[in-house]
Amino acid sequence: MIKTDILIIGAGPTGLFTVFEAGLLKLRCHLIDALPQPGGQCSEIYPKKPIYDIPAYPEILAGDLTEKLLEQGKQFEPGFTLGERAETIEKQEDGSFIVTTNKGTQHQAPVVAIAGGLGSFEPRKPLIHNIADFEDKGVEYIIRNPEMYRDKKVVIAGGGDSALDWSIFLSDVASEVTLIHRRNEFRGHLDSVEKVQELKNQGKINLVTPAEVIGLVGDHHLKAVVVKQAQHIEREFEIECDHFIPLFGLSPKLGPIANWGLEIEKNAIKVNNALDYQTNIPGIFAIGDVNTYPGKLKLILCGFHEATIMCQAAYKIINPGKKYVMKYTTVSGIDGFDGTRKEAPKAVVKKIE
Ligand SMILES: Cc1cc2nc3c(=O)[nH]c(=O)nc-3n(C[C@H](O)[C@H](O)[C@H](O)COP(=O)(O)OP(=O)(O)OC[C@H]3O[C@@H](n4cnc5c(N)ncnc54)[C@H](O)[C@@H]3O)c2cc1C
Repeated sequence: MIKTDILIIGAGPTGLFTVFEAGLLKLRCHLIDALPQPGGQCSEIYPKKPIYDIPAYPEILAGDLTEKLLEQGKQFEPGFTLGERAETIEKQEDGSFIVTTNKGTQHQAPVVAIAGGLGSFEPRKPLIHNIADFEDKGVEYIIRNPEMYRDKKVVIAGGGDSALDWSIFLSDVASEVTLIHRRNEFRGHLDSVEKVQELKNQGKINLVTPAEVIGLVGDHHLKAVVVKQAQHIEREFEIECDHFIPLFGLSPKLGPIANWGLEIEKNAIKVNNALDYQTNIPGIFAIGDVNTYPGKLKLILCGFHEATIMCQAAYKIINPGKKYVMKYTTVSGIDGFDGTRKEAPKAVVKKIE
């Protein structure tokens, strides 16, 4: 059982900034995210795009913002359960909550902050009749550990950045990489498209276009994919492989959180925005893109604000009767849980002779 003060569901920008604000109040955080890496939409959908409306950053890449948020919260030693989806929540007699993931990891905290954004990202699966039979037996929708593909024959399907980038990366790891796309044109960064072209010319990537995988072959594990190609004449053939990785993007779904008894409006969680972003269940807050209230804006800076207000309310739940006096960080400095201290140099009182 992982125990913490604030259990944050969702490690997007809102969840990551919560770690910092909670740390200032001496509250520890643990984050759960269904994705294998932190950053939410910023790292999953648009890491290389510049954002122009983060206060004090005239321009910052979404991926760099994630790095900065991780760096800002590092001294408060957040815990992470990544690649697991928060599935169920149970209220305990002492008022705390136990949240269990789809992999059975249990977490306990007196306060739960749902920072689940648009929901947990679920892979878009191709319509292949027997694909479910091979999930985790050669078919993966997200690459969690590239080493798993060392010296293996890999077939990747897709025409976006993920398919291009992973084909490039795995061309140095796998024994054979085949990239299949239903069009001849790819929708990705120009340098990635050019790199794939170069690797194809060098014989390091087999490119099969316009084509799609229409069947899977194997017993207990995948042995081959059946491909339909429509170049000049239509033909069907098999490609032997150990892994098939369809990278058709991820679509967000509010998912299991929708069944937690929370008031939901248009796929978002209703909160008390006049006070502290608490939901209809005391002790459970919803911050960032996942919540709704009159005038809501789904922007990163709004998530930061909501996280800050929410932490003050969490402090009162965790420390009943204790008063917290807000201090500027310029005045109080920052005491990290890792023993580090940041503070401005103190003014010196010294006589000038
Ligand atoms: C292309 C694009 C461009 C954008 N540009 C801007 C911009 O310029 N400026 C701006 O302010 N905003 C922009 N946005 C919006 C911005 O990205 C979001 O407002 C922001 O990401 C919300 O942060 P969040 O932490 O609330 O949620 P998210 O970033 O969505 O993160 C939520 C996380 O929660 C996880 N999660 C959800 N449910 C579960 C569960 N049950 N278990 C485990 N994990 C779960 C998800 O996997 C996800 O990682 C843009 C969005 C897109 C798509």
